[in-house]
Amino acid sequence: MNFHIHSTWSDGTYTPEIIVKEAIKRKIDKIAITDHYATTKTTSLPPKYIKMYVEDLKALRKKYGKEIDIYIGLEIDFSPRTDIDNLPDFSDVDFLLFEYVQDEFWEGYPLWMLLNLRKEIDKPFILAHNEISRNFKDSDIVSLVRVLEADNIGIELNTNFNYRKFEIPYYRLAPQFFRLISEYKVPVSVGSDMHDDLNDLANVEDAFSFIQEMHLEDNFKLFLKEVEKYEG
Ligand SMILES: [Zn+2]
Repeated sequence: MNFHIHSTWSDGTYTPEIIVKEAIKRKIDKIAITDHYATTKTTSLPPKYIKMYVEDLKALRKKYGKEIDIYIGLEIDFSPRTDIDNLPDFSDVDFLLFEYVQDEFWEGYPLWMLLNLRKEIDKPFILAHNEISRNFKDSDIVSLVRVLEADNIGIELNTNFNYRKFEIPYYRLAPQFFRLISEYKVPVSVGSDMHDDLNDLANVEDAFSFIQEMHLEDNFKLFLKEVEKYEG
């Protein structure tokens, strides 16, 4: 399974259909296409294209639904590069990834602003490729995890080489945090952030090993339940 993939709808190289066919070939059970929502950072989807994006992915769901589960996501650059005050309600998407939350290197907005937005948008929220050990180094971990549980905000295990420090994925740099997460109802998702290399589709093994090591199985199941509940 892989819940973080970019297509030609934003800055990815391949069309959703090529991605879906390749994923079926590689016997992947579930994928999510998660293109960038309007941001000045990269090629991304302006609000008026979201309907077309969703319709395109729903058509693929119809065509290939017997062979693979396809989910519809969007990735939001949670920074001044996005018009956060005028977001649509995203009623047709299954879940939202938020990148750069509380990441000062990337001018990311703080977590409390995401909590405000949470009240307005009723969709699963996931912190994408967050370097918890750096972005939340001054936070009390227990309070942080309690807030995530209370506001139902999940965490992604992102295997992409861009989200590593000294070759180590960010999630492996925060073992205490994830050990604690396993005791709370905080959804955990998995994705490779594929853009231009189809081999990245199956590059999620380390994240699933981490789920076993940290006993995050129930957290991952919770994520699956959430996205299925909201499936448009
Ligand atoms: Zn991404």
